[in-house]
Amino acid sequence: MALREGALRVKLLANSGNFYKLTSFLGVRSLSENVSSKPVTSSASETTGDHLIYTAEHFALKESLRKIIDQEINPYVDQWEAERTFPAHKIFKILGSAGFLGVNKPVEYGGLGLDFSYSVAVAEELGNIRCGGVPMAIGVQSDMATPALARFGSAELKKEFLLPSIMGDKVACLGVSEVGAGSDVSSIKTKAVRQGDEYVINGGKMWTTNGTQADWMCLLANTSDGPPHRNKSLFCLPMNLPGVQIARKIDKLGMWSSDTAEVFFDDVRIPCNNIIGQEGMGFTYQMLQFQEERLWAAANVLTVMDNIIQETIQYTRQRKIFKQPVLYHQTVHFRLAELQTEVELLRSLLHRATALYIKGNDVTKLASMAKLKGGRLVRELSDSCLQFWGGMGFTSDVLVTRVYRDTRLMSIGGGADEVMLGIISKYMDTLPRK
Ligand SMILES: Cc1cc2nc3c(=O)[nH]c(=O)nc-3n(C[C@H](O)[C@H](O)[C@H](O)COP(=O)(O)OP(=O)(O)OC[C@H]3O[C@@H](n4cnc5c(N)ncnc54)[C@H](O)[C@@H]3O)c2cc1C
Repeated sequence: MALREGALRVKLLANSGNFYKLTSFLGVRSLSENVSSKPVTSSASETTGDHLIYTAEHFALKESLRKIIDQEINPYVDQWEAERTFPAHKIFKILGSAGFLGVNKPVEYGGLGLDFSYSVAVAEELGNIRCGGVPMAIGVQSDMATPALARFGSAELKKEFLLPSIMGDKVACLGVSEVGAGSDVSSIKTKAVRQGDEYVINGGKMWTTNGTQADWMCLLANTSDGPPHRNKSLFCLPMNLPGVQIARKIDKLGMWSSDTAEVFFDDVRIPCNNIIGQEGMGFTYQMLQFQEERLWAAANVLTVMDNIIQETIQYTRQRKIFKQPVLYHQTVHFRLAELQTEVELLRSLLHRATALYIKGNDVTKLASMAKLKGGRLVRELSDSCLQFWGGMGFTSDVLVTRVYRDTRLMSIGGGADEVMLGIISKYMDTLPRK
């Protein structure tokens, strides 16, 4: 694996016997401390041995993040779920100071300059957060609203929006979906009309994660009346401009700790320089951005599934029915074995897609398959596991219930299952020709 500057730093430290610690939580990215050659792994199936894509540095990165999750996030999750929001600026500052919001972003803009396999490792570790809303909000910041800016944005734009987002000083959101256009991104109606040195934006966005707290939006808007795949552009839109209106915070089935907003734009003026890359290339940029989003989503849900299986094993081992543990009933342990097998299949697919992606391949087909399978499997798995908890599985006291609610989104958001099937069919050349 080619190691860039940041990776090299990690590698050197690992080789020197120093344990890799990213942060002192003081805003200084210190690499130091604690000698340890064997990082603790978070998932039952992980080993530090011959891993397909992870090195000791990946596991060290995961362990550093795990400490933040255990100290700064998990103790507050229940409170944030009840409040239907979480303090994004506070948590992003902690994560940004430690480098976790820009793992694969350029070093000159505050990133760690590592390859995307490290982002996948981070996404997996974020699955240890005991709700879906907070990791989703973090994923929007690190891997959904910023990849296009990092790849195609001008130096000035990256300095103004990317750097503070990576450092955790600004909260980002992604404005693609609208009231009338979710799956069919090409039919969005929001317009950005050029007037002199400015674009004037009118329209609105729906389902905007981080929307009530965001400082800027990665906005997809129509910039001409041309063909739908050539008439769109991406912009960095500051959310405090006159004409930006947060219409409402949306009440949801799950993902309670994540704020989801509907946003309107009424004659919002932004400088022409706020366009990401070339005018008319927004649809293409967004489709590329979706690749990372989909790999991120699959990675994140893997750990959630590992954890739910483990917690279900623990619970059913101590809970007795008909004079023996629930777990000892063959239908229970066989089902768990089958589900764990499916999880391992998804892990293999994800890691293969990631390995190909960091070598520069187009992995749209594999990423779509991973997203499809992740969404379907987590629904099946959380439903099956919840069943084995009996009445407890119907209470708000256990993680499986929250996972059951939260992960329902995966088959809908970021491209529904049917959209994934359409993409896969396209790559299989089985779509009917028009
Ligand atoms: C909690 C939450 C957070 C979100 N965060 C964001 C965000 O931050 N930014 C953002 O831009 N969007 C966000 N979204 C929007 C999300 O990506 C869309 O909801 C999703 O793309 C589906 O669009 P839609 O809701 O308009 O459903 P529709 O497009 O109306 O689709 C309805 C259903 O039609 C079916 N369908 C779709 N395509 C096909 C097909 N080709 N063939 C057959 N059936 C099909 C699917 O079952 C789909 O669920 C979020 C959504 C939610 C619920």
